[in-house]
Amino acid sequence: MIKDNLQHIKSQLPEHVTLVAVSKTKPASDIIKAYDARQLVFGENKIQEMVEKYEQLPKDIQWHMIGHVQRNKVKYMASFVSLIHGVDNFKLLKEINKQAKKHNRTIDCLLQIKIASEDSKFGMSKDDAETILSSEEFSVLQNVKVVGLMGMATFTDNQSQVKEEFIFLTNTFNKLKTLKTKNCNLETISMGMSGDYQLAIKCGSNMIRVGSSIFGARNYN
Ligand SMILES: *Cc1c(COP(=O)(O)O)cnc(C)c1O
Repeated sequence: MIKDNLQHIKSQLPEHVTLVAVSKTKPASDIIKAYDARQLVFGENKIQEMVEKYEQLPKDIQWHMIGHVQRNKVKYMASFVSLIHGVDNFKLLKEINKQAKKHNRTIDCLLQIKIASEDSKFGMSKDDAETILSSEEFSVLQNVKVVGLMGMATFTDNQSQVKEEFIFLTNTFNKLKTLKTKNCNLETISMGMSGDYQLAIKCGSNMIRVGSSIFGARNYN
């Protein structure tokens, strides 16, 4: 099942689009099924859960943190996380830099932009992102690199609203892309999930985060 789902999705994806298989709440045995079908990029939204899976599973897996990150937990993933999608404030970026430095590595990050109309979705404004990326304080951070933007559309059936939100993120990306420095080089637009990844790709996404269409519905009990 997992293998078939993966192959079905991958067969539709343009080559420039990276698939993050969102394995949150799913057991390591499910991840291994996807791994055996040559999926190497996995997304988790809880740091503790990601650490446990990292410890059990093959070391060539690339772990993406796609959820909201609390500053005090960055230290647990700093040695191995491959991309942090949900960076939504400068203090967090500084903490990631500090923890990455301890492991003598540079951690790639995406700035999460709030594109949804709901209050519950995290993210910063386009102006906040621009302020951070052009600041002196940011330019001296040597152990983080901002490689793109991430956004989550409103949870709605209204496709034209979702489309507008995706296009807003792509426009923001195109604007901020001009700010190229040592630790800032925007190449990735992470947007699109099981319900909307095709639309997201049409609107410019090159990284999609897909969970339930690969692993089946999640059970939160
Ligand atoms: C859970 C989650 C996804 C995947 O959602 P599906 O609808 O199962 O594909 C994508 N992005 C984020 C940030 C998530 O938390």
